Amino acid sequence: MYDLDSLENAETANLMTPYGRPSGPVTIGTLAGRRVAFIARHGTGHRLLPSEVPYRANIAALRQLGVRQVFAVSAVGSLREGLAPGTLVVPDQIVDRTRGARSGTFFGGGVVGHVPMADPYCARLRRSFLDAGPADVVDGATYCCIEGPQFSTRAESRLYRAWGLDIIGMTAVPEAALAREAGLCYAALAMVTDYDCWHESEESVTADLVARTMRKNVEATRGLLTSALNQTDPEADCLCRGSLSGAVVTDPALITAEDRARLGL
Ligand SMILES: [Zn+2]
Repeated sequence: MYDLDSLENAETANLMTPYGRPSGPVTIGTLAGRRVAFIARHGTGHRLLPSEVPYRANIAALRQLGVRQVFAVSAVGSLREGLAPGTLVVPDQIVDRTRGARSGTFFGGGVVGHVPMADPYCARLRRSFLDAGPADVVDGATYCCIEGPQFSTRAESRLYRAWGLDIIGMTAVPEAALAREAGLCYAALAMVTDYDCWHESEESVTADLVARTMRKNVEATRGLLTSALNQTDPEADCLCRGSLSGAVVTDPALITAEDRARLGL
């Protein structure tokens, strides 16, 4: 997925945001007739832990570039027999099992805001993955986001299954929430690479297993991403754009010029 060689007229930009630098240079080009900006969230050469990804800078950088829609791609483990390795899933819910160490909001420092997260993914953008076919894409799954970098213990994996969670990964939190705060449409395409470690007759997850399954399925994922880009209309009106309407509860008279500049985007 790092190797977006189908991106035409590609150039790279080194951006700075009020939240620091994004994970790496942003590649900007044309894909399926659309202007696309690509950030490898773990950095070039995969050097950042899920806990180290500068999520705020990544979303702020996309916002600075004028991006309206974010297609997040990730590898996940399966907590369900029916979600076999190789399956592509479009999640619709998230449960946060990170440890609270990640910067998960653009607010704070004197400005309080609360955005709705009942449906953490954009319904319109999810549709563009589901209608993109021909691959069989599973509609709806609850994504359990753990801190990592270690995979779960068997007891944790069984616990998440008992809670009714469907897939497990390390990056949806706080990425989805930050996209919502930034008024961006955000949907995810999750590729199932393994059965985590709960399954009694299947291999338990290792980094090597994840990489092997990804390599086998990367073409299907790229194809679906390109068709989804084709399907969607970046100019379409969407609820996500109004997510900040009425969200800021701090007395406007007390918001400093500095904070206004930081949150200006
Ligand atoms: Zn939306």
